[in-house]
Amino acid sequence: MNSSVKPSNAPEESASAGQCWICGSERTVPWKSRSFERPLQPEDLRITDSHYGATLALRRCSECGFIFAAAGEVQSLLRLYEQLNDPDYVASEDTRVLQMRWLLARIRKERPAARSLLDIGAGTGLLVREARSLVFEAVGVEPSRSLVEAAIKNRQVELLQGTFPHLRLAGRTFDVITLVDVIEHVSDPVGLLRSCAAALAADGIVLVVTPDVRSLAARLLGKRWWHFRVAHVGYFSRNSLDALAAAAGLRSLRRFRAQWFFRVEYLAERLAHYLPLGAVNRRARRPGMLGRLYQRIVPVNLHDSTAIIFAKIL
Ligand SMILES: [Zn+2]
Repeated sequence: MNSSVKPSNAPEESASAGQCWICGSERTVPWKSRSFERPLQPEDLRITDSHYGATLALRRCSECGFIFAAAGEVQSLLRLYEQLNDPDYVASEDTRVLQMRWLLARIRKERPAARSLLDIGAGTGLLVREARSLVFEAVGVEPSRSLVEAAIKNRQVELLQGTFPHLRLAGRTFDVITLVDVIEHVSDPVGLLRSCAAALAADGIVLVVTPDVRSLAARLLGKRWWHFRVAHVGYFSRNSLDALAAAAGLRSLRRFRAQWFFRVEYLAERLAHYLPLGAVNRRARRPGMLGRLYQRIVPVNLHDSTAIIFAKIL
């Protein structure tokens, strides 16, 4: 990460590889072993990856409860993200766009006068495009070269390849900064949030959406929870999100459960990892009522994804 704002507890600077990325505590213990032997590949990081439960080696902080990937491999993540392409992600845009609209409505309710927006980890630029169709002057930053190329070609949105802080955004401030399913992918969440705090306009807000590792679904499914995946290197709870905010000079304004939108077919295929749905799913591929049902888009709130709006501590 080309961060110019390095926190004292950034993993690469820490004295101990087991030090918590959020609160800096040395009291961390091994929590889950690495699920596979081979080295990481860009394909492991696809947003649409469905190898639930497969992760890097994880540790848990006894102080703040943050669960994080053991040091070493996380340093290679950025290089892998730059090479990432994710055709399934591009294909699932019609449902993702509904979630972006839903989040933007929440943002506008919180800050009706906001006009400038930065989306970090912008993917194919869906949120940037939707924000521009409302009242926002919006720009996005995304590490994957192929996703940025697709976004610029298809949508003519302003998307910068790379990470935040970004040289081409130096000196710019924003009324709204969004990190939708991003902080669980980065190895220096405190540094990233500090950079966001520094780029906020007066009265600006940061929206963070991330899985909640203490949610009911997470506790019921244990280490088979669908958010345990190789690309996720940090797992937050209410407690560690509060610690993150404090470390970054932010305070939490509002907290809610994020709503998602899925095609029934997508849900059924994902559920087949937990339930014997294979035969039903095969039948749905044939023409008929079940097939039509499978193409419907439904709102889903599994209460295991947290959305938080942060403001600067003045
Ligand atoms: Zn901690």
